[in-house]
Amino acid sequence: MKRVLSFMLALCAALGMVCLGEPAQAAGKKLIAVTYDDGPGPYTERLLDGLKKRGVKATFFMQGMNAARYEKTVARMYREGHQLANHTYNHPDLTRLSAGEIQSQVNRTNSILDKAAGKGADYLLRPPYGSYNSAVGRAVGAPMILWSIDPQDWLYRNAATVKNNVLRNAHDGAVLLLHDIHSTTVDGSLSAIDSLKAQGYEFVTVRELFRRRGRTLSAGSSYSQANPNGKDLGPVQQPEITSQPKGGQLEITITAQKGTAVYYSLDGSDLNQQSRRYTGPFTVQTPCTVKACAAYNMNGSRSDTLEKKFDRPAAPAPVLHIENGFLIIEGTTPEVAVYYSVSGAQDSNGNQLYTRPVALVPGVRVSAYGAGEGYYNSASVRIAYSPLGNVFRDVFPEAWYFDAVDKAAAEGIIQGQGDGVFAPKDSVTRGQLVTFLHRISQETGAAPAGEGNPFTDVPEGKYYTEAVAWAVENDVASGYEDYTFRPDRKVTRQEMACILYRYMTGCCGAALSAGGLESFRDRNAVADWAKEAADALSASGILQGDTEGNFRPADGCTRAEAAAVLLRVQGYAPPVI
Ligand SMILES: [Zn+2]
Repeated sequence: MKRVLSFMLALCAALGMVCLGEPAQAAGKKLIAVTYDDGPGPYTERLLDGLKKRGVKATFFMQGMNAARYEKTVARMYREGHQLANHTYNHPDLTRLSAGEIQSQVNRTNSILDKAAGKGADYLLRPPYGSYNSAVGRAVGAPMILWSIDPQDWLYRNAATVKNNVLRNAHDGAVLLLHDIHSTTVDGSLSAIDSLKAQGYEFVTVRELFRRRGRTLSAGSSYSQANPNGKDLGPVQQPEITSQPKGGQLEITITAQKGTAVYYSLDGSDLNQQSRRYTGPFTVQTPCTVKACAAYNMNGSRSDTLEKKFDRPAAPAPVLHIENGFLIIEGTTPEVAVYYSVSGAQDSNGNQLYTRPVALVPGVRVSAYGAGEGYYNSASVRIAYSPLGNVFRDVFPEAWYFDAVDKAAAEGIIQGQGDGVFAPKDSVTRGQLVTFLHRISQETGAAPAGEGNPFTDVPEGKYYTEAVAWAVENDVASGYEDYTFRPDRKVTRQEMACILYRYMTGCCGAALSAGGLESFRDRNAVADWAKEAADALSASGILQGDTEGNFRPADGCTRAEAAAVLLRVQGYAPPVI
């Protein structure tokens, strides 16, 4: 014990040293939002080049009339991850306009910016001259962003002065006001950015500045900075794109940071508000280029775009059959070979090239995939050849119900649905349950056959017709008051308890003890008509609860569960006399 403790202390000391070696990160980095007003203009492309070189994202409060003139520049801003923002159409003092005129200034500019950002994008607004009042706030319908640093770059047309004015006033959480319509501002601000980066500042869009500090922006309110508050929610993480062959196609899965939405395109086109929203895995035909980004808000609060090319086709998945104890695989072509492996309970051999049918012994499972030069490997396909000689595509030895399903299928109590499909998770219907019981009764001779049935929904010739007649004749199951049996209705666990109980006590003369129900936490949820049956069947161990100690009377019953239950019922039945 002492030794463990001293080891722990040594470990803590080592970790402490690691921590001391790094600057304090808990409160996050120093953040600053650079904003450029009034453009775009003739110097904006040069500014974008400089920002790109430095990996800096900025926010552009644009006049609509200039944005219309420099459409390509606006598109580039958006594409390169800058935030597009609204500075009215032609720079009026909004306090002198009517609500209708203000809205027209805002909306006209929004729809010009929409050409880059996509319809439905949302824009922050900066009122010209920083001039606003409560009426303006009500009319603009967007958060109003002011500034905390004004280096007066419009007044001092000198790059060095602009730079010095920025550096003198820089602070964590600042919103920096600049104007990209002046060449001196482009030079001065890029130079200031270099110095601030060296001081450890991180450059973010306005929207990111407030999001990372955990501050919400509301329409009509004004904001001029986001001072450090001990919070930094961190940058938006790029999503991950993974692929898996499915048939001859690729299934694409995109995973992203919690709380973000993923936007994507499949034809290499740029992403914006109008791009597809990811809702779950989808398949594509190759070749294709997937572009994706994660966003809290596509305009100003999104990750860099991830681009992934899928240039090769996927090999088609092989089709496996087991017939008369031989493994037969379809799907090999001159281009695509199939590799298979056979795993038993004890041994497992490696992947082998499939060339001809392979003799199998029961109790193994086979997996196989297609592969070839210039193809992605196909998904792996499995099939099981059970110890009792069943072929399953959807039941494998690692499942708790494997042995029960194998036995129930081998004895013909529950048959598969053809071609190796057992559908273990499917729910059992009333028609199926009496059919399964009827099969057990035929094995044991526990009850006489029936003579037709009185139900309007049990036609002749269905798989359950004879079983329903038998069940009614022997009082195993009854119908509803409207002369229906509802054979396709899912059977609940308490209904199943009643049917099994009547079969076992009535047809088989089983003497079941009582007192099983009291141990279940949800015993009061069992219907009165089912209490006696549920009590006896749980006391005898035929019906068991879940791991939390609940009987779950209203839940359905899967085919896998039914296999286990019916084998127990069969074990209780008296021998044939
Ligand atoms: Zn302005």
